[in-house]
Amino acid sequence: MVAEIVKTEMAGKTDICPGIKSFFFRPTESFEYKAGQYSLFSFEHDSKEYSKPFTISNSPTRENIEMTTILSGSDYKNALDSLEKGHIVNIKGPLGSFTLDALKEEYVCFLAGGVGITPVKSILEYAADESRTLKGCLFYSNRTPDRIAFAEELDGFADKLSGFRIINTLTSLSPEEEQSWTGERGYIDEEMIKRNFPRYSDSRFYIVGPPAFNGAMKKMLSENLGVSGELITLENFAGY
Ligand SMILES: Cc1cc2nc3c(=O)[nH]c(=O)nc-3n(C[C@H](O)[C@H](O)[C@H](O)COP(=O)(O)OP(=O)(O)OC[C@H]3O[C@@H](n4cnc5c(N)ncnc54)[C@H](O)[C@@H]3O)c2cc1C
Repeated sequence: MVAEIVKTEMAGKTDICPGIKSFFFRPTESFEYKAGQYSLFSFEHDSKEYSKPFTISNSPTRENIEMTTILSGSDYKNALDSLEKGHIVNIKGPLGSFTLDALKEEYVCFLAGGVGITPVKSILEYAADESRTLKGCLFYSNRTPDRIAFAEELDGFADKLSGFRIINTLTSLSPEEEQSWTGERGYIDEEMIKRNFPRYSDSRFYIVGPPAFNGAMKKMLSENLGVSGELITLENFAGY
């Protein structure tokens, strides 16, 4: 697929969890992409030009293009959040190779940090919509329970993909949350992977999140689990 610039119209937005929103764009012409790819989202607002890369967080089987982000208070995010329905947003893409194309292995293991869940959500939604077989595991790391974006959607996809599990881990639980949280705790490490996903040694790994998360995950996989670099696909959310 060759990258092209496609005109879209802002179609709406919705809260995903505190501080995180999804924005929806209706393409005015055909736009093809693979689950997991990203694009440059550009628009004009108050005579200023804005442009940044974001993953398309939904599946190509869905009608509009979804983009999901943390509202950080930056000029870009404030301008994006103030756009009216129908506002023109140009999308340049598709870009990137964080897709299942290269998949030859029987099992996949996603390691996602925070908003890095976006391409994984796109891939799982696509596999569920298309009734594809996907065996493996998602390890999804967040600080607190309220920051688990797409929790219900992801569980729904896993239910449809028999043979796929989701392991949530939280790193900054409050004393009250400590009492009620029944999932994993702390950073993703080799023990957590071995405990929850014994087929890790037959798996391809997909790491996605901020550069610091990705660096730590890649080091852990190669040094502590002996995973070779060619079995690791990585997407850096540069800018975090
Ligand atoms: C392939 C790819 C896919 C991506 N997909 C997503 C996605 O799906 N969702 C998503 O949310 N993001 C995604 N990103 C990241 C996205 O492009 C933005 O960089 C990110 O959202 C931060 O944008 P921002 O406007 O909030 O921060 P910015 O304002 O651009 O800030 C970026 C960094 O610079 C620091 N900074 C900003 N201003 C200053 C200053 N004056 N002094 C010092 N430090 C400063 C901030 O603290 C922050 O750490 C992706 C990036 C890439 C490359």
